[in-house]
Amino acid sequence: MCDSCAPSTEMISAEEVGGLSRRTLFAGLGLGLAIPAIGLVAGAPTASAASLMDGRWANPALGHFPQGGHFGASRPGGPHAGQDVTNSTGTGVYAAADGTVIRRAWGGGLPGRSGNGLVISHGHDQYTYYGHLNAYHVPLNAEVKSGQRIADMGATGNVTGPHLHFEVHSGGIGRITDPVAFMAKRGVDLGGGWPRIDPGSAGATVVALQHLMRKHGHDLAVDGKYSSAAVAAVKRFQSSKGLAADGQVGPATWPKLVFTLHEGSKGDHVKGLQAALNKRSAGLAVDGDFGPVMAKAVRTYQSTNRLVVDGEAGPITWRALLG
Ligand SMILES: [Zn+2]
Repeated sequence: MCDSCAPSTEMISAEEVGGLSRRTLFAGLGLGLAIPAIGLVAGAPTASAASLMDGRWANPALGHFPQGGHFGASRPGGPHAGQDVTNSTGTGVYAAADGTVIRRAWGGGLPGRSGNGLVISHGHDQYTYYGHLNAYHVPLNAEVKSGQRIADMGATGNVTGPHLHFEVHSGGIGRITDPVAFMAKRGVDLGGGWPRIDPGSAGATVVALQHLMRKHGHDLAVDGKYSSAAVAAVKRFQSSKGLAADGQVGPATWPKLVFTLHEGSKGDHVKGLQAALNKRSAGLAVDGDFGPVMAKAVRTYQSTNRLVVDGEAGPITWRALLG
């Protein structure tokens, strides 16, 4: 994990789980001395606002959380600014959401960080930082899509071994927040679990969902929008499987939706898998035909993400792709 990656003199913003208030503090002051700096403002999101689990965000890397690699862990120079995800050099690193690569530089140009780094701007004053990369897959100023391959995991900079150092900045560059909590609120389990998407979601994960629902006999349009007709169908599907019919597609529902697919499979479920692979930069035609090109893409994805390389898409491969 990182030996440093502390924010040094930058400001820290602690986004409170489940609440709206934010506290800002200078590194080293400690939470006990936090000064409320951002109050509630008119028009701020409320509990009744649209869910943040809207399909916009994606898991940036598969691996495990090393002991002491969490946000806020003690580091020389200040608390650890991100979450470490450990895997071997060359493991795929993916954009956490749509955005623009605004920095491609040592330490991302951020104080206290080291190694090859990317910063992506996602709009709404939200940024993600990817540290200690072995190789870049995108140029500076690239427009990237959520889940797009952007880099290889590595061990560049001040580290004890290969891993991704992942940071989220919310409210401006330098306003770091706990990436695990931030992503969980947006339906992404940084630990590698199934995603959660709520009604109103859009994007590639919804496309995969719609293809899978068609395979289960629900005649849905595939438009990438999780709107009322699709929600009603998912609720019927959930009821039929003995699940809570809440319309949220998450860890209980996905395993009932996906199919284990292999070369020779044909149908809407294959289209769903093709959409999921394309979310991770596979570039496949979505034709519902699991041929040799697709089998190669599955193996490449599995190899790149240190999964069992068998060319067969079972629940573990689906979960990694959709997460
Ligand atoms: Zn780190």
